[in-house]
Amino acid sequence: MTNSPIVTDVAIIGAGPAGLFAAFECSMLKMRSLLIDALDNVGGQCTALYPEKPIYDIPAHPAITAQELIESLEKQIKPFSIPRLLSHQIIELKGEKGNFQLTTHKRLDIHAKAVIIAVGAGAFGPNRPPLDNIEVYEKTGHIQYYVRRSDQFIGKNIVIAGGGDSAIDWALALKDKANHIDLIHRRDRFRASPESLSRLDAAIAEGKIQKIVPYQLKELHGENGILQSVEVATMDGETKKLKTDYLLAFFGLSTDLGPLDKWNIEKTAGKIPVNPSNGESSLPGVFAIGDISIYPGKLKLILQGFSEAATVAHGIYPIIYPDTALHFEYSTTQGVPNT
Ligand SMILES: Cc1cc2nc3c(=O)[nH]c(=O)nc-3n(C[C@H](O)[C@H](O)[C@H](O)COP(=O)(O)OP(=O)(O)OC[C@H]3O[C@@H](n4cnc5c(N)ncnc54)[C@H](O)[C@@H]3O)c2cc1C
Repeated sequence: MTNSPIVTDVAIIGAGPAGLFAAFECSMLKMRSLLIDALDNVGGQCTALYPEKPIYDIPAHPAITAQELIESLEKQIKPFSIPRLLSHQIIELKGEKGNFQLTTHKRLDIHAKAVIIAVGAGAFGPNRPPLDNIEVYEKTGHIQYYVRRSDQFIGKNIVIAGGGDSAIDWALALKDKANHIDLIHRRDRFRASPESLSRLDAAIAEGKIQKIVPYQLKELHGENGILQSVEVATMDGETKKLKTDYLLAFFGLSTDLGPLDKWNIEKTAGKIPVNPSNGESSLPGVFAIGDISIYPGKLKLILQGFSEAATVAHGIYPIIYPDTALHFEYSTTQGVPNT
């Protein structure tokens, strides 16, 4: 059985902050769009990697957490009821300006007149430690790689593994909520800002965080998906059992730009070079914004992705409405168009 294709004006691959705002800008110009993401929720890195961290460089928001930013973007696009296709990774992109066919890994087809690639660093996932039965505890949430809700750790024992910013930031963020935190790392040197390192030293001195070095994860112990302890070992085979309710493992991310390599678009060091005046890639009708795009002076910042979203929407307009000249209007004049 073949599914009938979804038909839209603009297919937006990636529903991170850049993709979400591109959907808004397309709607403001009365172009239909479809948001597609490999993850099961929108927000890209903001939702998946650092939802509770405050961002300080979003214009007009002195501080806003990454999750609040995505919620605000959702609110802004809500009037347009933009369709979305989540848990679908785009693996194929074929066709030409005015007539593109995209295919997801679940073999669903999308037909679009133009495409916006907003895939950030690619479909991403955590680097998982090679431990027996790890998937059992992942399913029950006793092992996590991103913290989506810090309240679940109130009064709990936590083992945090990793030696970089994320491990330290989360150890510090949870130290006053958790009952106890063990921070394990394979060496007695952490990679973080001097300010975070001195806050870590203070928390260790206060007894809120215990540093377990130089140890690595060895084994998980528990029953029915409920984690009870984590066994850790030194290179010399010395072991310790740490009683815990949760393991938070921060070993970085692996990103998969794999499918993109097969698309007929010029790439430079894993990025898509675009014409900065309209955001178009080497393939006419395919545009790129956010972390994936590159041009002289590019900054990998959310605010820049927002501006690029407005630029590409204007660049796409003549493809969708070839016979209508676009008269630039402020949103204050235009209002939010009826959908
Ligand atoms: C810890 C941390 C702190 C940060 N702090 C700041 C900050 O203070 N200020 C700031 O401006 N920026 C910050 N950033 C960077 C910022 O988050 C990124 O610049 C921003 O998320 C890029 O947005 P994007 O929409 O381009 O891509 P992303 O947010 O990466 O979203 C891309 C989406 O595309 C999806 N995708 C990828 N490939 C496919 C495919 N083939 N099919 C379907 N979907 C696909 C992915 O699943 C993902 O959801 C921070 C990043 C991190 C990790």
